[in-house]
Amino acid sequence: MHSILGAINSLFGGNKLSILIYHQVLEQFDPMRPYEVTADTFDWHMQLISKHFSPISLCEAARHIENNTVPKRAICVTFDDGYLNNLTVAQPILAKYKVPATVYVATAFSEGADMWNDRVLDLFKDPRLDNLIIENTQVALGDWNNRNRLAEEQLMRLKYLPIDERLAGVQQLYDDNNLADPEPRMMNPQQIKQLSETGVEIGGHTVNHPILKVLSKEQQFEEIHQCKVQLESWTGKPVKHFAYPNGSYGKDLTDETVQLVKQAGYETAVVTDWGTSAYGDDLHRLKRFTPWDTSALKFHGRLIKSRLR
Ligand SMILES: [Zn+2]
Repeated sequence: MHSILGAINSLFGGNKLSILIYHQVLEQFDPMRPYEVTADTFDWHMQLISKHFSPISLCEAARHIENNTVPKRAICVTFDDGYLNNLTVAQPILAKYKVPATVYVATAFSEGADMWNDRVLDLFKDPRLDNLIIENTQVALGDWNNRNRLAEEQLMRLKYLPIDERLAGVQQLYDDNNLADPEPRMMNPQQIKQLSETGVEIGGHTVNHPILKVLSKEQQFEEIHQCKVQLESWTGKPVKHFAYPNGSYGKDLTDETVQLVKQAGYETAVVTDWGTSAYGDDLHRLKRFTPWDTSALKFHGRLIKSRLR
């Protein structure tokens, strides 16, 4: 363990900022979402960060990048989408280790409607069900492997449909099986305000979570600006940070998108392309990466790899 830390110390010596991406922090392992961290895993991630890195807020990080004063082993923690477990599970752990964080919220999902992919996963997760009617055929759900496979088939079938057809397709699955949605997974406006009051920064992530690149300039600006307006009215605080949905530069957003985010008044914006940030980098295209591995070595390995790029 000590030699790993020694290697980290030498690699992380110079003026680079790492930004971690999380989505959910689950109270318990979810067999339909094996890639999401649990509270236990997140706890040791934060413990490791507080001991061996310099966790800072995105506002601090932006100033340091501009002034070429990024501290050694500087790290920011971010969450995408606005899951309720960011408040109920992640926030107490962040507070325990005094790690600042930013949660990017897509505001259309703050009124009780879950994201379409979660609705599909939850349908196949329902332990009371042995069968589902899928596209007019009764299908046996079987074990978790099979449930994951069936859910994946539906996700792939629906993913490339136009948004209205995709949402209608998900609703059709619920209607055909006479099922209601489980409890909302996303924070409502009161819960977003509550999280903001603990000191966690709330950032924008559009209204409807579209791929911005495929929208017109006007539609993009509406998505980017309107979520800022909503979040500022809910939290009573300025919203300074933005995360591009899906977030791969070139694939999901263009230079026009970046300009619109600046124009809307955001101080920073993050992509999902892997890497670190340093003096001279564009504050509206900060790179991130995912520390989803469950072993300490892999977690360190990913941090180191992202530093070397
Ligand atoms: Zn997202």
